[in-house]
Amino acid sequence: MPEETLFTKIINGDIPAEKLYEDDICICIRDISPQAPTHVLLIPRKPIPRLADASEEDQAILGHLMVKAGEIARQLGVDEAFRLVVNNGAGAGQTVFHLHLHILGNKKFSEQGLGM
Ligand code: AMP
Repeated sequence: MPEETLFTKIINGDIPAEKLYEDDICICIRDISPQAPTHVLLIPRKPIPRLADASEEDQAILGHLMVKAGEIARQLGVDEAFRLVVNNGAGAGQTVFHLHLHILGNKKFSEQGLGM
């Protein structure tokens, strides 16, 4: 059995986290080290290591995450300006190898390009 990821441990309640939302496909928690005044993580229960490891069978999960990202942004009051970030691979800054979407808001973003 592969070792459980940090996020699987949070999903299972073995490590505490501030959960904002959960359903049978995903959970949303506050990031422990926020990079913006609003910074939450949307995590599928299925431990897909990286976005690049997702396959056709994960389409419904990925679609669900995108819809929930919009809903959660609305609930957090940042739907007018938020950024979704997926780090894929260590070279892109991924540190937890269990797919997750960062939802970042309440921050002045560079209005052009990807400057954070
Ligand atoms: P990434 O670098 O894209 O893999 O993102 C991993 C994120 O998980 C980072 O933003 C961390 O701050 C966050 N993180 C790490 N441990 C925890 C934890 N116990 N609870 C909530 N967020 C965490």
